[in-house]
Amino acid sequence: MSILVCGGAGYIGSHTVYKLIEQGNDVIIVDNLQSGHLKAVNKNAKFYKGDIRDSKFLEKVFYENKIESVLHFAANSLVGESMVKPLLYFNNNVYGMQILLETMVKFNIKNIVFSSTAAVYGEPKRIPIVESDDTNPTNTYGETKLTMEKMMKWCNKAYGINFVALRYFNVAGALEDGSIGEDHHPETHLIPLILQVPLKKREFITVFGTDYPTADGTCIRDYIHVLDLADAHIKAVKYLENGNESNIFNLGNGIGFSVKEMIDAAKEVTKKDIKVVLGEKRAGDPAQLVASSEKARKILEWSPKYTNIKEIVKDAWTWHETHPNGFED
Ligand code: UDP
Repeated sequence: MSILVCGGAGYIGSHTVYKLIEQGNDVIIVDNLQSGHLKAVNKNAKFYKGDIRDSKFLEKVFYENKIESVLHFAANSLVGESMVKPLLYFNNNVYGMQILLETMVKFNIKNIVFSSTAAVYGEPKRIPIVESDDTNPTNTYGETKLTMEKMMKWCNKAYGINFVALRYFNVAGALEDGSIGEDHHPETHLIPLILQVPLKKREFITVFGTDYPTADGTCIRDYIHVLDLADAHIKAVKYLENGNESNIFNLGNGIGFSVKEMIDAAKEVTKKDIKVVLGEKRAGDPAQLVASSEKARKILEWSPKYTNIKEIVKDAWTWHETHPNGFED
C-alpha cells in the first residue's frame, strides 16, 4: 500500500516525503510544479506531474496505485497574494480539495492528513492558542484552509473519510545536509528574507512594525522546524491508519520569538552583520501567534526535536548558503 502526497515537490511536502521514504514507506507524489520544484522530487518516489483539479488525471493516479492514505499539501499559500487574487485561492485550494475528496470517495480511500495553518484563527483572543479557540481568518488564504477543513468534516460524516488537519505556525529550517530547503517565488517569509542579507541578495531586512504590544515592540511568532512538521504528518498518517477518529492539531514549539530576536539569532548563526531598517506594520499581522501543541503531544505522541531557534536558523542557513538561488543552483 502507498501513501499519496499531493504537493510533494513543495517545501513541507518534499521534507515529509524524504522522511516517509527514510522510514520505508512507498510514496506517490502528485504536483503541478506551479510552486514546487522538480529538483525537490524525491528520486525514490513515483512522480506524476499534474493538477489535482484535473479529475481524469487524479483518477488515473488512484487507478494505477494502491493508495491507503493521502497527505495533502497542494495549495496556494501566500497571504498577500490571497487578498488580491481571492478567486485564484478559492479555485486552487477549495475546488482542488473538492476534486481530491470526490476521487477519494470514488476509490473508497478513507484517510487524509491535511496541511492547515494558524491563519485559520485570525487575531487570537489569548496566547497560547488551542484548537478549540475561535476561527476568524483575517485573510483569504486562512479562509480557504478553514473551508477545506470543513469540507473534510462533512465528508467524514457522509462518507466516513477520516481526516487529521495540522494547523502549523511558522515553518522554517531545512534538511540538515542542505540538499532540499525553502524556495518560494516571491519569497515573503521572515527567515529566508533575513538570510538574503548576508547572502548579499538584499541590502537590508525591513522590520514590519515596532510598536506592537510586545517586549521589544516587534511581532512574536512560533517557529517550527520543517522536519518536526514532517514527523507530525507521519504520526498523523499512522494515527488514522490505526483507526483513530478525525482530529485537528496545532503544531508549534510553544515558544514565541520576536522579529528582532530572529534577526539576532541570524547574526549569531551566520557570524555576519545584518542591516536592519525599521518599517511600517504589514496589514493583517497579529502581534503574537504562539501555539499550544499539548494536544498533538498527548494524542499523536509528537514532540518537536528542534526547540533551539538557532538550530532552526542554522539549518535554513546551510540550505541558503549552498543554494543562494534555490533549486536553480
Ligand atoms: N516580517 C518582517 N519583515 C519581513 C517579513 C516578515 O518584519 O520582511 C515579520 C512579519 O510581520 C511577521 C513575522 O516577520 O511578524 C513572520 O512573518 P512571515 O511572513 O515569515 O510569517 P507569518 O507570520 O506572516 O505567517
